[in-house]
Amino acid sequence: MSVQLYNTMSRSIETFVPAKEDEVGLYTCGPTVYNYAHIGNLRTFLFEDTLKRVLLQSGFTVNHVMNITDVGHLTGDGDDGEDKLQRMAKEQQQSVWDIADFYTTAFFADFDALNMIRPTIVCKATDHIEQMIDLIKRLEERGHTYTSGGNVYFSIDSIDDYGKLARLDLEGMQNASREDVEVDDHKRNPKDFVLWFTRSKHGDQEMMWPSPWGRGFPGWHIECSAMSMHYLGESFDIHCGGIDAIPVHHTNEIAQSEAATGKEWVKYWLHGEFLLDDTGKMSKSKGEFLTLALLKKHGFEPLDYRYLVLGAHYRSQLRFSFQSLKMAQSARRRIGEAVRSMVNGGAQRTTISSDAALAYRDDFLTHIQHDLNTPQALAVLWSVVKDGTLGADERYTLVLYFDQALGLRLDAIEADEEIPADIMALFDERNRAKAAKDWEKSDALRSELAQKGYVVKDGQSGSSIEKKM
Ligand code: AMP
Ligand code: ZN
Repeated sequence: MSVQLYNTMSRSIETFVPAKEDEVGLYTCGPTVYNYAHIGNLRTFLFEDTLKRVLLQSGFTVNHVMNITDVGHLTGDGDDGEDKLQRMAKEQQQSVWDIADFYTTAFFADFDALNMIRPTIVCKATDHIEQMIDLIKRLEERGHTYTSGGNVYFSIDSIDDYGKLARLDLEGMQNASREDVEVDDHKRNPKDFVLWFTRSKHGDQEMMWPSPWGRGFPGWHIECSAMSMHYLGESFDIHCGGIDAIPVHHTNEIAQSEAATGKEWVKYWLHGEFLLDDTGKMSKSKGEFLTLALLKKHGFEPLDYRYLVLGAHYRSQLRFSFQSLKMAQSARRRIGEAVRSMVNGGAQRTTISSDAALAYRDDFLTHIQHDLNTPQALAVLWSVVKDGTLGADERYTLVLYFDQALGLRLDAIEADEEIPADIMALFDERNRAKAAKDWEKSDALRSELAQKGYVVKDGQSGSSIEKKM
């Protein structure tokens, strides 16, 4: 069976055929490490993780490169703002390097907690300044750049297909009123963008490097072009990001990469839709934003969020609410309980051979390989969990097979073990407090048990306790 993917470039679903027969070159734009990732950012990384898992499940080897943007990403994505890390460093009175280190570590803690598979290569922008300078030199030699007011610009009029990914109407834009477009007198065309900065309107920049054009720092877009080509070659298979990257970041990456090599750069472009909050697109600039740590504080596990994200197609907007997260949590727990009872019953991995099990597997693959239809794939998982006519071993094997793509850590669920005596003592004490209607004490004991890794459940026939999944 083949994998079908929606390619933003062609605006259609295409059969995925990598350039090398079995090996996929995949580049995903990484985080800008000036703050914690919000759960909207994490939605995009989760979609990319699902893509990678589906490619692996379908038999491909995936060479996955992800960058860390630790310099050059300006507020507003254009050329006019302040470097995001520099601004945070000033605010927190720390070195930019420390800010980058701290938030990179925090990012990977979230990444692991959500059970995302680490990239083959993680590359920091600040470690690849040489490759960026080389690429700018190449563009200069081919006549695609100019220097003005100290900065080096890419001239979009030096190529004839600028904006093809976003299908930008350049003429319409030229004629439209410019109120919303920043004015940079140094630009020949307002859509030109900076490849190398030697001046910042916002005072000193801590991160600066020597270059043929003077001491300075790279533009954000050149980073991704230089690093992806360095590790994946001048043309590769898939490039991903959030949809906000289409009109500027990815548009500029394509312009400069193809101008430098004269070749098609990337074959398949995939973009994840936004996670929305009550006020619209979730973003870090909105002050308090939702992080994985905050969800944990509200009593949720990171994988509850993963389950919630899987419940919506990656190309649909998803509105976040605690209520929907609660539903995701209880659904994930029910699946976990079902798997635990399979394990308790001694279920083993086996070879899938019955017609019914093979039909389930085909059904799952049909959905997940058709542009990552995770909501339908989850529905197949539920059908298998509920289908008592399947043999226990086949049922268990199917669930684990599906989880290769879904990443819910169902393979880590172990048989029930005896609950330790000290935990049982706390549980009994909690039951007594509850019977005496001492709600404060009973809640405090429930929290203490949760901290120790046990969930108390109150049902009609009394309370029960089990290890957290
Ligand atoms: P950043 O760390 O700001 O560079 O963003 C990391 C990724 O998150 C990028 O691919 C963005 O496109 C994506 N992103 C930003 N906001 C959202 C959102 N509200 N929902 C989904 N993805 C987002
Ligand atoms: Zn990028």
